[in-house]
Amino acid sequence: MNLLVTGGYGFIGSNFIKLIIGKNRVNKLVNIDSLTYAADKKSLEEVEGDPKYVFRHSDIKNYSDVYDAFYAHDITHVAHFAAETHVDNSIEGPKAFVDTNIIGTFNLLECARKFKTKRFHHVSTDEVYGELGKTGKFKPDSPYDPKNPYSATKAASDFLVRSYGNTFGVNYTISNCSNNYGPHQNSEKFIPVVIKSLLRGDKVPVYGKGENIRDWIHVKDHGRAIWKILTQGKNGETYLVGANNEKTNLQIVKAICKLLNLNPEESISFVTDRAGHDFRYAIDASKTTAELNWNPKKNFEAGLKETIEWYMKNQTEE
Ligand code: NAD
Repeated sequence: MNLLVTGGYGFIGSNFIKLIIGKNRVNKLVNIDSLTYAADKKSLEEVEGDPKYVFRHSDIKNYSDVYDAFYAHDITHVAHFAAETHVDNSIEGPKAFVDTNIIGTFNLLECARKFKTKRFHHVSTDEVYGELGKTGKFKPDSPYDPKNPYSATKAASDFLVRSYGNTFGVNYTISNCSNNYGPHQNSEKFIPVVIKSLLRGDKVPVYGKGENIRDWIHVKDHGRAIWKILTQGKNGETYLVGANNEKTNLQIVKAICKLLNLNPEESISFVTDRAGHDFRYAIDASKTTAELNWNPKKNFEAGLKETIEWYMKNQTEE
């Protein structure tokens, strides 16, 4: 396959590229990324010399950038990661989210349709389903109920993808995944904020009472799921990806404090809650496991320890 990856210098895209570039099925891997603040150019240093790898500094908001990439590289498959991804930023300035997450996805779909791409895989989030109470889990057919501009634009892009399948016959799959952690995540996200604050000797800012619950999955387990869905998933299907690893924000901070030998009582400062903060997300990934024989492999404590060690080695001044 000639695979187009969008947003390949981001957290999940870069980990995905490193995971799959060596696969025999990949003839060429073209990464288009506009290198926003969220991109980490260092994240792909180890693949930049690979003859299969091509980088195009392009913006998915520009139709001609996207068209040129499809045309020049005879793209057969797409793994679409590029997005504005930080909920707090979507509350400060929603327009960039509409432009990249909706218009950008539209441009890619138009090209997938014109070039008759064999498979368009859309990487989405469990946040499109809104929030859960204390019980229950999201399933692929749970009703959409996005609660903030980030999740609303991701929901809109999911619907656009399905509409291009239904109306124009674009061959697609969608994955909705829970919160990821691992190396190379941008410093604005929760686990890097916790680790970096503690490494600097600062208190960790925790929203509200720290009771919000997320199902944390290691970024490599997410990448393995995306590869299986891209290559073995059924056209038109949605697959949920999660690790059955629900933790409150407070539990996460305490786990990181423990690994750093710090006293959580002295390391936390509770701050005013985020507007519209979803209470709980949880994933029922049984369809993904049953159809694709996929299971998350990474033990959470081991993955967290490695992530802390990565940030210790790669600490940057901010
Ligand atoms: P990220 O913010 O770390 O990286 C996004 C990448 O996309 C960056 O390299 C950025 O430069 C690029 N990009 C942004 N706008 C672009 C544009 N207009 N044109 C080209 N490139 C552009 O994101 P991430 O955390 O790696 O998330 C990747 C995807 O996975 C997103 O679609 C996100 O919605 C989804 N997702 C993320 C999580 C999570 O926990 N991070 C969970 C589920 C799903």
